[in-house]
Amino acid sequence: MEEKDLNYYAKVHSIESFGTVDGPGIRFVLFLQGCHLQCKYCHNRDTWDMNGGSYQSLEDILQKILRYKNYIMPHGGVTVTGGEPLLQVKFLIRLFEALKKENIHTCIDTSGMVTLTEDVKRLLSLTDLVLLDIKHINDEKCKQLVGKGNNKELTFAHYLSKQNIPMWIRQVLIPGYTDDEDDLVELKNFLTTLKTVEKVELLPYHAMGRYKWKELGVNYDLEGVPEPTEKQIEKAKKILGISS
Ligand code: SF4
Repeated sequence: MEEKDLNYYAKVHSIESFGTVDGPGIRFVLFLQGCHLQCKYCHNRDTWDMNGGSYQSLEDILQKILRYKNYIMPHGGVTVTGGEPLLQVKFLIRLFEALKKENIHTCIDTSGMVTLTEDVKRLLSLTDLVLLDIKHINDEKCKQLVGKGNNKELTFAHYLSKQNIPMWIRQVLIPGYTDDEDDLVELKNFLTTLKTVEKVELLPYHAMGRYKWKELGVNYDLEGVPEPTEKQIEKAKKILGISS
């Protein structure tokens, strides 16, 4: 494949022009290709491979976004998700610089499991909101669930707090994996150390993305794991202080 300048080209998985769940208002959602984690519950399994997806230029993506500007303004904006969007940080710096000039709200949906390089810091300075998926508050369980420990993401959360960058925390609730009471209490305690958390969202596990694993011919480790019951969801929400 032809080499591209990664400052001006992104590996894109897909685009959703009217997203309503990834940040405030109506969002133009850019799904970038590539992820360095291996979350057992991933419902975007087809985003992992950096060789997948297709290159799109900054200019093309900007044009697409500006076509929807009237719909996403003034309460919505652009959310970049994936995969792990921060793997394409150089491109995102260029994109967010352009969006800020247009006064468009910028949001990144990330695991935060990256090194805080100067590029990542520059990007965060252009970011209005981070949707931070805390994978697991327990380091060992985190490794088992997503393939890496949680050190980087907790450091990332503290950095956001220190820089006054708003964040919405997300936690996937998986019976037998992330619903242990002590872990949820520890998560709650961790969140109280952060001063820019605007919202905590509990995302009940569902197996809807399982078919993508099957299509790729890979084993789905959570086969047979049930979705959490209303009672389990309510209990976890209570611990995390989320009002129903
Ligand atoms: S970080 Fe997101 S895209 Fe990557 S493996 Fe986990 S759930 Fe999937």
